[in-house]
Amino acid sequence: MTLVNENYLKLQGSYLFAEIARRVSAFKKENPSADVISLGIGDVTQPLAPVVIEALHKAVEEMADAKTFRGYGPEQGYAFLREAIVNTIYAPRKAQIESDEIFVSDGAKSDCGNIQEIFGNDNIIAITDPVYPVYLDTNVMAGRTGLYNEAAGIFDNVVYMPCTAENNFIPDFPKKHVDIIYICCPNNPTGTTLSRKQLSAWVKYAKENDSVILYDAAYSYYITQEDVPRTIYEIDGARDVAVEFRSFSKTAGFTGMRCGYTVIPKTVFGHTKSGMKQALNPMWNRRHTTKFNGTAYIVQRAAEAVLSNEGQKQIMQTIDYYMNNAKTICRGLDAVGIKYFGGINAPYIWLKAPNSMKSWEFFDKLLNEANIVGTPGAGFGPSGEGYFRLTAFGDRESTIKAVERIKTKLKL
Ligand SMILES: *Cc1c(COP(=O)(O)O)cnc(C)c1O
Repeated sequence: MTLVNENYLKLQGSYLFAEIARRVSAFKKENPSADVISLGIGDVTQPLAPVVIEALHKAVEEMADAKTFRGYGPEQGYAFLREAIVNTIYAPRKAQIESDEIFVSDGAKSDCGNIQEIFGNDNIIAITDPVYPVYLDTNVMAGRTGLYNEAAGIFDNVVYMPCTAENNFIPDFPKKHVDIIYICCPNNPTGTTLSRKQLSAWVKYAKENDSVILYDAAYSYYITQEDVPRTIYEIDGARDVAVEFRSFSKTAGFTGMRCGYTVIPKTVFGHTKSGMKQALNPMWNRRHTTKFNGTAYIVQRAAEAVLSNEGQKQIMQTIDYYMNNAKTICRGLDAVGIKYFGGINAPYIWLKAPNSMKSWEFFDKLLNEANIVGTPGAGFGPSGEGYFRLTAFGDRESTIKAVERIKTKLKL
């Protein structure tokens, strides 16, 4: 008899996007002439930057010649890319990160999901609520959580840190000890951030409590406010407690290219049951080299191009394009008096559904009255109930059109 990993059976179905698709398709069936616009897109839409295309062509040509052809590369990523990351991302921010603390991968989702493997199963994890579902689900799969509590909408044995308008989306420190703390900043879905002072408090907390912070900085390039750190390693002491995940996906349109990286300073430690200190960097190195064979050479050359001076300028133009959409959405919501958060340091706008409506009620209202699709906040965690996510990843024209409809068609 083959036994299955029963932890998988505790998972809650990927109900959110399936249910959105179901409701949209039912609406279209009944209203075949309706022009439905999606402001729910969680993927970039604009093409790769010219420097990236150039680097790709060049790398493809190298692969066509035996003299320059590359087979397996280092599992951790080529030195040219790891060094470019140090020089462009960390050194200018006075963040002391060395290239052998960087592990290049096929994206931040895999890394955020896989990292939990190097931690013991008895650790208590803390997640902000609402948040990107990967952190929780991968811990459920590993058996690090209890069962799903239907009534409360939470998994047992997980510490949820509610982030709502009431606490300004700043998580409170857990009331009981936690070992692993997931922080996503700027946050998906709320688009909110932590200031330098707030993040410093978390680093201090982790240090005092012997916890590790797993910091997802997938949206750091969208930050516009000076007081929001671009990397957790800008914070004193973070080198001793934090692992950082980064990605070229939302930064440079690499969602279909696949490249990200994880930073594990050699000074971050866990402990064995007997109390011995154990560095995380060599453990992740062992995991990565055993289970991963490196990101495509041509993709790493493309990522290197993103980090060049010209590349940085070109990707910022696209990010500005999205953030301009975000502004348009925010101004539209201002005009109709809908309260919202985010949209300043992230391509996400997290609105409070008017008249105390529930997330799904507002979804139906927006779809029926304005023919706009967004994402119900309740799908990202119980504290997302009553909220709703709009994204700035659409094209300019449809974003403007959608905002016009919010202003003219939505009955508030
Ligand atoms: C999109 C996203 C990622 C995944 O990035 P990939 O590098 O494409 O795997 C990771 N974290 C958050 C919060 C995201 O929104």
